[in-house]
Amino acid sequence: LAQEVSTGPALIADGNGVVLLASPASWKYATLKPLSGEVIAEIGRHQFDGRAPGGLTLDVDVEAASVGTPVRLPSPGGGPEAPAALGGHDYLAFSRHLPESAWRLLVFANLRPVRAQALTAGALAAAVAGCLLLGFLYVRQRRRALRAQLESQALLQRANQALERKVAERTVDLSDAVSRLEAEVGERKRAVLELRAAQDELIQAAKLAVLGQLATGITHELNQPLGAVRTLSGNAIEFMKRGNLETAESNLRIVGQLAEQMGAIITPLKTFARKSPAVSSAVDVAHAVASALFLFDQRLQRCGVSVDNRCRAGELIAWCDPNRLQQVLVNLVGNAIDAMLVQPVRRLTVEAWRQADGRIALSVGDTGGGFSPAVRERLFEPFFTTKPAGEGLGLGLVISRDIVRDFGGDLSAESPPGGGARFVIHLPAGAGDATGSARPDQGAFPT
Ligand code: ADP
Repeated sequence: LAQEVSTGPALIADGNGVVLLASPASWKYATLKPLSGEVIAEIGRHQFDGRAPGGLTLDVDVEAASVGTPVRLPSPGGGPEAPAALGGHDYLAFSRHLPESAWRLLVFANLRPVRAQALTAGALAAAVAGCLLLGFLYVRQRRRALRAQLESQALLQRANQALERKVAERTVDLSDAVSRLEAEVGERKRAVLELRAAQDELIQAAKLAVLGQLATGITHELNQPLGAVRTLSGNAIEFMKRGNLETAESNLRIVGQLAEQMGAIITPLKTFARKSPAVSSAVDVAHAVASALFLFDQRLQRCGVSVDNRCRAGELIAWCDPNRLQQVLVNLVGNAIDAMLVQPVRRLTVEAWRQADGRIALSVGDTGGGFSPAVRERLFEPFFTTKPAGEGLGLGLVISRDIVRDFGGDLSAESPPGGGARFVIHLPAGAGDATGSARPDQGAFPT
């Protein structure tokens, strides 16, 4: 406080409250309290060399100042020595009686530094409080986050447990489903095997039916050499009795040749009739065509059908079962002959070529009546036949298409522009074929 007093203004006032001495000097003759004009004039008359005081009133309660009172000091009045700090600032006024006089000493302590200190302390306190609040908020937030984390962990754990339970349930369901599927697959496999066996039986039955149709021709073909054998062997006996062994020997040689001829007729029949599972191999299509035509040799001649076989041995090799390919050809040739029976021109054309995609195509065409669009639609339907009862079963084409599809090929029917009918067998190229692959591609063909 002593320091503040020394830096603040100070004054000495007399018993009337008139400033006698002051720093700043401009306060000299100022009054502490407003005085009436008469008092001022009276004082002026007796003191201060006739100069009237009271030009400036400081408005200080002297009694209150004895214990210290805040005051608002007026502007110092423009004197050059007046401290700039005195303009309208708050001061704390202290007054003391000067011993043995009515005079008083008043000192003013500038409150600005104190206020600044208070403000600093306040700001500091506010900052500390702010920090504390922030700390508190942080801790609270942390706690909340921790609680949320724990809750989400618990939630996650519960979800995990639920998931594990579900997975376990699903696993049981799935293993049940797998067992059921395995059982079903087993069932299907058995069904497929049974179906295949039934198909094989059907194919065999169809073969035997064809054989039945061929029987007449074959009998006829065998009859001739058989008659010759009978005659030649009878003659041989006679010649031997007469001692003409040379002629007997020549007769017996011819008998042997005829037996071989009959064997050659029977062997393809045996091969054709054999019940065998389909086994694919490289097949010369010309060979399969020749075998099928050989079986029909008699019938073709009898019906006056001319054959135009354009297949050359060794040219085109397909990948299929030779026996079954022959069966398909027998079906197609048999149908072609049937279709041409009532036609004036009867010509059977068989040709083979390589398709753009590298596969082998083999066609059987005829000059028969062909088929109407309605019949063509139903050609491959089981039991569809236009032949009289007892002559057709309507299974030949269905079985033939099944056989060819088994090879990875297909069978299609066409109505050529010149009339008649044409069936085309599409086959995979086989090993050994000039341009074919070692193993055929098993893709299906469009029909
Ligand atoms: P099926 O010969 O026992 O009738 P297919 O399945 O072999 O049975 O033939 C079904 C039908 O297709 C025949 O009845 C016939 O109407 C018709 N068809 C087959 N081949 C020919 C052909 N080359 N020309 C005209 N129609 C044919």
